[in-house]
Order: sequence, then C-alpha cells, then structure tokens
Amino acid sequence: MADIRIGIVGCAGRMGRALIKQVTETDGCVVAGGTEQPGNPCIGLDLGDLAQVGPLEVSAGDDPAAMFAAVDVVIDFTAPAATVAHARLAAEHGTAIIAGTTGLTIEQDAEIAQAAKSCAVVRAANMSLGVNLLIALTRKVAGILDEDFDIDVVEMHHRYKVDAPSGTALALGKAAAAGRGVDHDAVADRGRDGITGARERGHIGYAVLRGGNVAGEHSVVFAADDERIELTHKAGDRTIFARGAVTAALWVAGKAPGLYGMDDVLALDL
Ligand code: NAD
Repeated sequence: MADIRIGIVGCAGRMGRALIKQVTETDGCVVAGGTEQPGNPCIGLDLGDLAQVGPLEVSAGDDPAAMFAAVDVVIDFTAPAATVAHARLAAEHGTAIIAGTTGLTIEQDAEIAQAAKSCAVVRAANMSLGVNLLIALTRKVAGILDEDFDIDVVEMHHRYKVDAPSGTALALGKAAAAGRGVDHDAVADRGRDGITGARERGHIGYAVLRGGNVAGEHSVVFAADDERIELTHKAGDRTIFARGAVTAALWVAGKAPGLYGMDDVLALDL
C-alpha cells in the first residue's frame, strides 16, 4: 500500500515541528507538504530543517488550497480562525483533516461539524493516548460517585498558552458531567475569585496554572468528606500529542465523511 501523504498546516509552530518529526519516524506515511501563514519567515525553508531531522526536499509554503488538493490527510494545530478556514478547504477538496487546535468558539465548532459533512474530520482537544484514557476513566468514576464528591479539574501549561481553561480540562469536565448525566454548562464554575460563597453541590470547578515550559498537566479531583480521589496525567513532552495525531491521520485515511474523536481512533471502551 502506498504511503499516506500528510500535509501539516502551521508547520513552523511548536506542534507543527513536532508533527514533521513524528511523521518522518512513523512507517506508512510521508510529509508531503507544509504551510504557514503569509509573511512567516519560515516560508521557503525545508520542512526537515525546520524539525531538525535533515532535509526532506519539501519546503514550507503559503498556499493551503494547493496542499489540500495534493495530500491524503492534513494535520492542523494552528489557531481557531485558521482551523475553520482549513476545515472549509478540507470539505471543498474532500481531504481528511485532523483538527487539534483548541479554544474554538461554539460557532467555530459548528463550522467544523458542517465541514465534516463533506470530509472526514478527527477533532480532539488532546490527542494523547494517556489523556484519552483519563477522559474515559473520569466519565466512569463520575458515574459511580454521587454528588457527595465535589469535582474540580486542575490544569497547568507553559507560559505561552493563550486559552484557559485548556481544551483538555474542558473535555475532562464534560466527561465528568456526562458520567453524572448532567448538563456541563449548567454546572461549570470556570473561575473563582473574590467572595464566591460556599461551593455549590454538584458543580464542576476549574483551576488554571500557567508557567515555565510545562507541556500539560491535568488532574480531576473527586473530594468528599474525609477522602479524595485524584486522577492525573502529566505530559512530559508534546511528542505524545504528535504521536496521537499521526495515529489519527493513518486511521482516518480513506474514511467516510464524518466527525470522529480520539475515542474512535483508539477504540477506548471502558
Ligand atoms: P504555536 O503558536 O507554536 O503554533 C501555531 C502555528 O500555526 C504558528 O506557527 C502560526 O504561524 C501557525 N498559523 C497560524 N495561522 C495559520 C494559518 N492561517 N495558516 C498556516 N499556519 C498558521 O502553537 P502550538 O503550541 O503549536 O499550538 C497550536 C494549537 O494546538 C493551540 O490551539 C494548542 O492549544 C493546540 N494543541 C492541541 C493539542 C492536542 O492534543 N489537541 C496539543 C498541543 C497543542
């Protein structure tokens, strides 16, 4: 079988470079293109040099439409508006897309779902195996424990992260709400400050830390009187997200249009 041709939008970004490296280290796929936004100083550079894996003879471009027409799957870890534009291109060309960008608005999420009517889309706030297992475990534990257990999600990321709480933290909160059979948005406390009053029974709280070069740490805390359960995942390096994204790219190639998640890719069924 021919290698899956993968294009990487945002190829000069932190994840973009990790993705180039991961594709070169994975059997069954090749880096077939990469784009950056117009004006980026990396345009024209060899993608292999960008990722420090040696020349690949494919250079960073600024014409995503041409790339979507030429590859089997595009991987997108960029910014919300860019991901929406790329999803429209994916739909136009019938090219599968792995959408890893976080911080999308409800309207932008709806645009991704619309694109998924015409092409296969894998969308996940976190592409690592460990975090997807954490999400599944959170749903399960929240379904077992009653509201005597208060649930808070705590996350920490590097100082450059622009959205909060992280997409993964929100996915964990939503998994907890799903496990309990409640509407997440009705019970979410997304930030506490000042005289907040006592904690409301059944609410799901969020706490956000930012600093250093932390790749991503998430804990779900289930706290009752006199006992506490904490489920934690710590990412040591963003390679784990790149590995998950490339696994998703190999899985999605040739799939029918639709909106898929990492639970589909990893077939985690707890
Ligand atoms: P980054 O700022 O280092 O990289 C983003 C890159 O996208 C930049 O190089 C930027 O120039 C480029 N870009 C922006 N608009 C573009 C456009 N229109 N066309 C082409 N390129 C464009 O950020 P990062 O740390 O790599 O993270 C990117 C996104 O991925 C963030 O939303 C982050 O939260 C998310 N993320 C998701 C996961 C996951 O597992 N789903 C893991 C890590 C990061």
